[in-house]
Amino acid sequence: MARIETPKRIRGTQDIFGEEQRRFARVVDAFEYVRRLYCFQRVEVPIFESTAVFARSLGETTDVVSKEMYSFEDRGGDSLTLRPEFTAGIARAYLTEGWQQYAPLKLVTHGPVFRYERPQKGRYRQFHQIDAEIIGAPEAAADIELLVFADQLLRELKISDGVTLQLNTLGDAETRDAWRAALVTHFEQHEGDLSQDSKDRLTRNPLRILDSKDPKDRPIADAAPDIDSYLTSEAGGFFESVAKGLDAAGVAWTRNSRLVRGLDYYRHTAFEFVTDRLGAQGTVLAGGRYDGLIGSLGGPETPGIGWAAGIERLAMLLDEPDAENFEVAVVPDRAEFEERAIGIVAQLRRAGISCDLAFRGNAKRRTELAIKRNAGAILFLRDENEPSGDLYLKYLGNDIEGVRDIAARVQTALGVSNLYSGTR
Ligand code: ATP
Ligand code: MG
Repeated sequence: MARIETPKRIRGTQDIFGEEQRRFARVVDAFEYVRRLYCFQRVEVPIFESTAVFARSLGETTDVVSKEMYSFEDRGGDSLTLRPEFTAGIARAYLTEGWQQYAPLKLVTHGPVFRYERPQKGRYRQFHQIDAEIIGAPEAAADIELLVFADQLLRELKISDGVTLQLNTLGDAETRDAWRAALVTHFEQHEGDLSQDSKDRLTRNPLRILDSKDPKDRPIADAAPDIDSYLTSEAGGFFESVAKGLDAAGVAWTRNSRLVRGLDYYRHTAFEFVTDRLGAQGTVLAGGRYDGLIGSLGGPETPGIGWAAGIERLAMLLDEPDAENFEVAVVPDRAEFEERAIGIVAQLRRAGISCDLAFRGNAKRRTELAIKRNAGAILFLRDENEPSGDLYLKYLGNDIEGVRDIAARVQTALGVSNLYSGTR
């Protein structure tokens, strides 16, 4: 008989389990907690969109669109793409679902995104992002709120030490055009010394040369003209308001005049939270203002600003999370008490007490298992004629908060008046 080959996990995807999953969950929980503090509304959007949604909004020449998208034709012959990021799909929804009526809108979401790139540590083909957007607000106050939100999230996760907020402005359309022309002139003068990638970028996306990591490009990029001398007074004033707001909120930042974002739709504020703890994958959270995006999707010109962060990269920075534990393990002393045990765990769980009853094993085995799995206490079910009663609660460890009040809660949940208990 032919052997059946076990299917393989697809390269660049992950099965997230155990400690890794607990880290992941902590990022998502902290994000949910902070977004409520900032009054952002949660949305869910599709995992796939028409390819045009991403191609038009991200720009045909960007890395993501030119080589990283998972695009396919569905059975109806439509070209679809697995989302490589959230912003474009949210902007599409804003237009097609009439969300304009709620503007300005503060939104968050999280979930899987897909990019066909070379997998390595901190870089996957299916990875996960948390994402925050404000649509319909041209005010610097929106930029500030979004950045303070990001900063608080990193503090909440206790990873803000060693993470720097790098801030730049890409100016308004007028600024950007003038600066772009000056950059092209500068890079053309040194074209012969640029890396091949940067030569290609020269016509397609000259701003990207600025943040090239190729050592050949660095001296030329470092000598390139700053945006500052091209900033219109309006764009300069806007940047100053953002900077002052961050100072007022107590969020530290540094100017990085070489910071440009990979996608074409950005205007004004661009930022990255960067750490030196993740090697080449040092950007943990990044975003900017995208006032050009909704217009490029055929909608009315609408300002927007947002950020996204890789959940995996945040998770890697976390301290080791506590092992998961629970409050009460129920252990019947004898096989005849099995049904009583089922009744009791149901009662405890309905009363909001986390508890577990092992599927098999005698009392000794189940006790060992309860200890191994970090139960806060064991509730033994015993003979009715035991002098100290047919229930006995034994405390284990002190890793569960409020282990002392557990006896009272178990007593209330089971409606018994005097529960015997003790320590190990
Ligand atoms: P990079 O320069 O690392 O490729 P990027 O500019 O492509 O990042 P964004 O498009 O800004 O990244 O995405 C926001 C965040 O998503 C990044 O800061 C990073 O934390 C995360 N991220 C991006 N690509 C990947 C990936 N392939 N695997 C895991 N996380 C990723
Ligand atoms: Mg990338």
